[in-house]
Amino acid sequence: MYCSNCGNQLNPGAAICTNCGANVPNLAAGAGGNSETPVSVGEWMLMALIMMIPLVGLVMMFVWAFGANEKKSKSNWAKASLIWAAIYIGLTIIISIALVAAGISFFDYLTMESIY
Ligand SMILES: [Zn+2]
Repeated sequence: MYCSNCGNQLNPGAAICTNCGANVPNLAAGAGGNSETPVSVGEWMLMALIMMIPLVGLVMMFVWAFGANEKKSKSNWAKASLIWAAIYIGLTIIISIALVAAGISFFDYLTMESIY
């Protein structure tokens, strides 16, 4: 069992971390420390606000998804949003390639028509 705040190895049954003083989730609540404090309304509001800023929102999404100190619900949400962003970008690229390819073949068709 390690401290979720500083990574210090904890004494079994310890209520607080001896290194940083952070509260240690009760082991009876489940192994792996599933009992984390939920993301507060204010935190969600701040996240929604940051998400409205282009580029900054994307960068923060990576920070939230892979940051070591982020809450699991927050990082899971950020990962899900990143996957959707990747799908959206992938689809946009595929559709634009398909449109360009269709445009080229139509252009070929036109030039062939004029030759023969
Ligand atoms: Zn600690």
